[in-house]
Amino acid sequence: LAKLDGKVALVTGGSRGIGEAVALRLAEDGADVVVTYLGSAERAEAVAAKITAMGRRGWAVRADSADPQEVRAVVAAVAERFGRLDILVNNAGAGFMGPIEDTGLADIDRVLETNVRGPYLFAQAAAAHLAEGGRIVTIGSCMAKRTAFAGGSLYATSKAATIGLSKALARELGPRGITVNVIHPGPIDTDMNPADGPGAEFQSGFTALGGFGRPSDIAATVAHLAGEDGRYITGAEIAVDGGFAV
Ligand code: NDP
Repeated sequence: LAKLDGKVALVTGGSRGIGEAVALRLAEDGADVVVTYLGSAERAEAVAAKITAMGRRGWAVRADSADPQEVRAVVAAVAERFGRLDILVNNAGAGFMGPIEDTGLADIDRVLETNVRGPYLFAQAAAAHLAEGGRIVTIGSCMAKRTAFAGGSLYATSKAATIGLSKALARELGPRGITVNVIHPGPIDTDMNPADGPGAEFQSGFTALGGFGRPSDIAATVAHLAGEDGRYITGAEIAVDGGFAV
């Protein structure tokens, strides 16, 4: 029996990067996995097809995390189609870097709606379906713990909120046997932050290990939290950041 056999997971932003790695890892561990995406329909379908090829049920659904109706609808659709929801991974996120004077209202709305309101609404909708043993894992950021360089005011503001959400919900859902945690990745090689991008060497310089992590590094920690091994971990902030925040 695989560790997550019979469990149903919902991974937001599962078409690329960290979310894709998390979705594939949870499927490898035995879960049926639903991924949401915004624009990358083909890539999301490819992830779902890989999950199906592993013998699990995979499903890709377009759902904009910034749209409350779409968030609620996708959680309801998962519960209806699979009859349960065990694991929510709040991964979808919008990046933004820039000085405060160049940060417009539209940027603020997009980042806060995607990174703060979206995960809150996903957790709220999921909480109605999660049973004993349920899991919520939110992807925060090392930038919520250490703002090593200028330009991160909006992104760090948004990611700091994942800590409050996770800790407060850990308290609230603990009596139901549901754990809630946040993982803070360091620089991870994805489209959002390519390891060969112009800012990569600069960022690597702030880590203790002197380099980028892989999406699978984050997926491994999500898998640990999601399974039985994570049963006594809740309200925790777990850095998987190469030592960025030390
Ligand atoms: P990518 O940009 O590579 O992938 C983002 C994923 O989120 C895609 O699947 C994208 O879908 C989806 N997405 C973005 N906006 C929305 C939305 N409004 N609604 C639904 N889906 C959406 O990002 P990463 O994999 O690098 O990042 C994943 C998470 O990790 C984010 O929360 C990010 O902030 C966080 N993080 C990343 C770090 C890094 O160095 N990479 C470091 C610290 C934190 P689509 O493909 O359809 O656009």
